[in-house]
Amino acid sequence: MAAHQEKKLAEERKHKTMQNGTKASQGQWGRAWEVDWFSLVSILFLLMFAPLIVYYFIMSCAQYQCSLTDPLLDLLTGNKHLSDIWNRTPMLTFRAAGIYSLWVTFQVVLYMSVPDFCHKFLPGYVGGVQEGAVTPAGVVNKYEINGLQAWIITHVLWFANASFLHFFSPTIIFDNWIPLLWCANILGYAVSTFAMIKGYFFPTNAKDCKFTGNFFYDYMMGIEFNPRIGKWFDFKLFFNGRPGIVAWTLINLSFAAKQQELHGEVTNSMILVNVLQGIYVLDFFWNEAWYLKTIDICHDHFGWYLGWGDCVWLPYLYTLQGLYLVYHPVQLCTAHAVGVLMLGLLGYYIFRVTNHQKDLFRRTNGNCRIWGKRPEYIECSYTSVDGTKYYSKLMTSGFWGWARHFNYTGDLMGSLAYCLACGFEHILPYFYIIYMSILLTHRCIRDEHRCNSKYGKDWKRYTAAVPYRLLPGIF
Ligand code: NDP
Repeated sequence: MAAHQEKKLAEERKHKTMQNGTKASQGQWGRAWEVDWFSLVSILFLLMFAPLIVYYFIMSCAQYQCSLTDPLLDLLTGNKHLSDIWNRTPMLTFRAAGIYSLWVTFQVVLYMSVPDFCHKFLPGYVGGVQEGAVTPAGVVNKYEINGLQAWIITHVLWFANASFLHFFSPTIIFDNWIPLLWCANILGYAVSTFAMIKGYFFPTNAKDCKFTGNFFYDYMMGIEFNPRIGKWFDFKLFFNGRPGIVAWTLINLSFAAKQQELHGEVTNSMILVNVLQGIYVLDFFWNEAWYLKTIDICHDHFGWYLGWGDCVWLPYLYTLQGLYLVYHPVQLCTAHAVGVLMLGLLGYYIFRVTNHQKDLFRRTNGNCRIWGKRPEYIECSYTSVDGTKYYSKLMTSGFWGWARHFNYTGDLMGSLAYCLACGFEHILPYFYIIYMSILLTHRCIRDEHRCNSKYGKDWKRYTAAVPYRLLPGIF
């Protein structure tokens, strides 16, 4: 009920804001209040087709050796019917349901019951209880940052099992890949639906809820900003990090084990994919406290986009290179392997340093050194929905002076490296770079739209000072 009242209040607030003519900076960040046709069509498209896209990719590998065109050709020429493909698809099994339930339960236990100890002995690591950014309603949430610890415990157990415990085969994930897909979908839909119901009837913070009145938009983009159960179970932090990202490296390890089992060796391409993506995943957990300041936590509401995306899209499509290499064990020549490694490491370096520069700059309120100099910045202000005025700074030096999202550029270089590790025989492993390019370009536009709403004229001064988004001089 509180949510219904808040919906009305939010409407009133919005009108008041517009009448005052200060729409630009009055608590207008976060996802949209109103749905435009383009967003609605995109959302309906994704709701209908994203699960099919995931199925198509995984099925292509299982039934067509990762060819994306052969299934279509078979269907178009009448060589096969949809039912033929579907009948060859493994169904949900009790074994997969058991593995998946155990996996998610284990991650919940690690998340909720083991307070972080890594920050006590790892110099430079920020863990334990940390604060997130100010929400549009002016709330500052506390988070227990223990993802690195969960990742380490999970991987130590994985290696202990693979080396001497032998409770299960390390190929277990690959061997149950499609039945596990159904489990991941069940969880993804269940959590998104629960989040929607919760947003209406028992939101964690009613002032941070957004209703557009469009069921599909609200379901997809979420109602609640930071849904929680109890004081500590934060949906966004849990679902994005674990089971999604902890699983990423385990899935790759399982694919490497399968390659060894089927082909008698682990190729250098598989090692490269495991190492480069492993660095990216470890980086995420090492910097989990920093993640509290990223768009996912600071701007996105929790709906199907994050809930289903974290459970299904991320573990299934971000790991396509490893899956592909099980079916096509590519052994790269030294020059190619070194080139991929260099590109991956350079991309990672740019990604990390750019993110670090912003984090340092924001943490110290500009009292730091970037490339040996005092940072340059633009002073800006914004107002939360309760009318409180806040001040902030936008850095215009370091990598942030080169382009407004140079961290995305580094990310894209790393993503390209994973794909190039798979050679040039098939398009499937290149899905990742195509997807990331679309995702990050769209994210640039979304973020800039929000920042423009949040900072108003100050944002315009910033874009005049740093005119390019991703590539200096080009875009
Ligand atoms: P950013 O870390 O770039 O955060 C953008 C926010 O930073 C803005 O909304 C603004 O927030 C603030 N900001 C923007 N410009 C400046 C500036 N010049 N100085 C100081 N603060 C500024 O974006 P994301 O959260 O999207 O991404 C974080 C990382 O995660 C990126 O490296 C990205 O590549 C990666 N990523 C990876 C994904 C994957 O699937 N692999 C998906 C998405 C992201 P404020 O309101 O605080 O001013």
